[in-house]
Amino acid sequence: MSAAAPTVRTRIAPSPTGDPHVGTAYVALFNWMWAKKHGGQFLLRIEDTDQVRSTSESEAAIMRSLRWIGLPWDEGPDIGGPVGPYRQSERTEIYQRHVAQLLETGGAYRCFCTAERLEGVRAAQLAAKTHMKYDGHCRRLSAAEVQSRVAAGETYVVRMAFPETGITIVPDQLRGGIEFQNEQIDDQVLLKSDGYPTYHLANVVDDHLMGITDVIRAEEWISSTPKHVRLYEAFGWTAPKFFHLPLLRNADRSKISKRKNPVSLDYYERIGILPEAMRNFLGLLGYSMPNDQEIFDLDEMLQGFDFGRLNLGGPVFDRAKLDWLNGQYIRKMGPAVLAERVAATFLTPERLAAIAPLALERVDRLDQFVPLLAYLLGGKLEYTHELLLKLTGRKGAFEWLPGDEATELLRRTAETLDTVRPWTAATIEAAVTALCEQTGWKKGRVLSPVRAAVSARPATPPLFELLEALGGAVTRARLRDAAEWIEANPRPE
Ligand code: GLU
Repeated sequence: MSAAAPTVRTRIAPSPTGDPHVGTAYVALFNWMWAKKHGGQFLLRIEDTDQVRSTSESEAAIMRSLRWIGLPWDEGPDIGGPVGPYRQSERTEIYQRHVAQLLETGGAYRCFCTAERLEGVRAAQLAAKTHMKYDGHCRRLSAAEVQSRVAAGETYVVRMAFPETGITIVPDQLRGGIEFQNEQIDDQVLLKSDGYPTYHLANVVDDHLMGITDVIRAEEWISSTPKHVRLYEAFGWTAPKFFHLPLLRNADRSKISKRKNPVSLDYYERIGILPEAMRNFLGLLGYSMPNDQEIFDLDEMLQGFDFGRLNLGGPVFDRAKLDWLNGQYIRKMGPAVLAERVAATFLTPERLAAIAPLALERVDRLDQFVPLLAYLLGGKLEYTHELLLKLTGRKGAFEWLPGDEATELLRRTAETLDTVRPWTAATIEAAVTALCEQTGWKKGRVLSPVRAAVSARPATPPLFELLEALGGAVTRARLRDAAEWIEANPRPE
């Protein structure tokens, strides 16, 4: 009997630096499919090597969203597994050990260059219009010099000794071989001066030690892959297979971004997109089922799943299509299930408790609660110029806020609020105040369109409390929706 083929093992490896992203769910779907098609395993690994930007809140939110969308992992930081730990911040010693190995074999070298020297190299390359990369200065230091500088306690990073001439070919399973000129590729930093690894080192070491056979990730990583291919070689390991999925796009075909499209899975959950519809929708992005079937579940997609059916031209994340598809799922579920799902999404005790403080002083009868605060439970708002752009002053005086100023105010506020954590009235207010101080904007001028954008009402309960109750994902999406509405509907002069 011949030896059994190794099991296919795939992974999703998000960096916990923000909201759970639709792109993560998209990549997870294809990893899950590929592993399950082969009876293999799908892993979750948390890539939190960026100590400044990684947060445990983001990690928890990503895991929550992946559970929501229904792509269960077989091994991961929460459930463990045979090749853990599955969180990179707990594996520092492993990376250091592997770097020591590369230093010994000449696959890597210590670099003592100061920030000032690197800045000088960059400036000279910029002036000479040559390719920007590390100039290899420390690669040529003698072993004796390196030793004495280490002994003297100088700080250093460890860089990869990338081949200086020739080419590197990335064998992409979906595209064939992609050729890179080695002289264009930097001697990547592998270990930072604080002893922490960079993405490249941690990613390769972990994929190898975790037995990942197939790396399926977004196209934007293609330019990193030659470094990875050479790292596997330097370690003497067999590289996994690489599949680079097409990037999701906004309607204007630019790379999907929150400036043009909500990208947070939380947002879609909060507006009542069903996880089964979202899975189906992601499965339609660039992928076509036999007979162009449009409505299908995971099992149907798994039957006959084939990367040959994936079109590499960037698929557009079309929200109208997502709504349509979601509607199809609603039509099928029947009224009793619909009632249950609405209750579970919008009328949970937690949601109602979050908005109840805003009603306490304002209703005399319970039947006033829903009309007063319905806009906080969900729904797309209807805007007018009057609401978004009219600044009323004293004694009936008013002024029109110019459309481009309003869009700038709304977008900058959305951007500022992107990083507010935890999401409370006080932290939101502090962020908006800081933005006003930094830009010189008058607070009233900012708060008026913000209030209208999130409520479509001229007057509301205290704004920051309202934003807290509305939640970050929906707040930011409404601010961007309103900016988009203003652009699409210029006010007639
Ligand atoms: N941590 C990377 C990310 O956030 C993983 C990329 C990869 O899959 O190699 O997407």
